[in-house]
Amino acid sequence: MLADAIRPHLSDSCTIDVLFPQGVDPHSYRPVPSDVQRLQRADAIVFNGLHLEANMESMFDFLSTQKPCISIAQFVPKSKLIPLDEHVYDPHIWFDILLFGQAGKQLADSLAKALNPALASPNTRFIDSLIQLDLFLRQSWAKRSKPDKSICSVHDAFSYYCRAYQLTQMSLQGVSTTAEFGVYEVDAMVEFLVKNNIRVAYTEVHSMAKTMKAVQLGCRQRGHAISIGPPLLTDAPAPGNNPGNHWPGMVLENSRILLTPIPYD
Ligand SMILES: [Zn+2]
Repeated sequence: MLADAIRPHLSDSCTIDVLFPQGVDPHSYRPVPSDVQRLQRADAIVFNGLHLEANMESMFDFLSTQKPCISIAQFVPKSKLIPLDEHVYDPHIWFDILLFGQAGKQLADSLAKALNPALASPNTRFIDSLIQLDLFLRQSWAKRSKPDKSICSVHDAFSYYCRAYQLTQMSLQGVSTTAEFGVYEVDAMVEFLVKNNIRVAYTEVHSMAKTMKAVQLGCRQRGHAISIGPPLLTDAPAPGNNPGNHWPGMVLENSRILLTPIPYD
């Protein structure tokens, strides 16, 4: 997501080496020895921050003594970050298209200043396309009424998306895919779906579908049929040539899934 947000504003002579393999979950990713070599070879390192790359923070701290190591999160105004507690903020900022797009432009500027000003290539057309996409999504969601303005999924990846388009979010795991969850969280989601007459819960590409089966069963036992929707793209774009294989295309692909009615039985 980060590479896609900064690439449009950098000249073609700048090579971006994306460290995480396609489709990988950044919450739980642990660097392998070849990653360390790639990080050492780079002229600069950019990362999301806000504890998303939880297992790599000490490495970024160490490398920041040798070369520019810049998080995109530092270009998001604090007032726009969603707090989880006093000092911790939700890291899923790429789901606010305008916020992440602007931060990506500023990060690219900062990177060019630190390395070589000739690398800067500001792209207002790209920012305009993000404004158009945001407007399209705003209008699409505004047509929906409750209960079709909720996202029930596995982990809390959609807080920024929900804030942007005035939706409600419910998840099993909280903000990280590494969080434990069990019967209590399944029961809470069943209660939420029944109480709000919501008829679909979504899995995520990184999650186990069987968890949502337990939610579906719980709902059925209470006489409330739900469907399990297609997996949403949360913490990585889709692999290969699949729809949503880049940012912001993954936001559009999720939106297409979420805005498509799904029959329940
Ligand atoms: Zn996540």
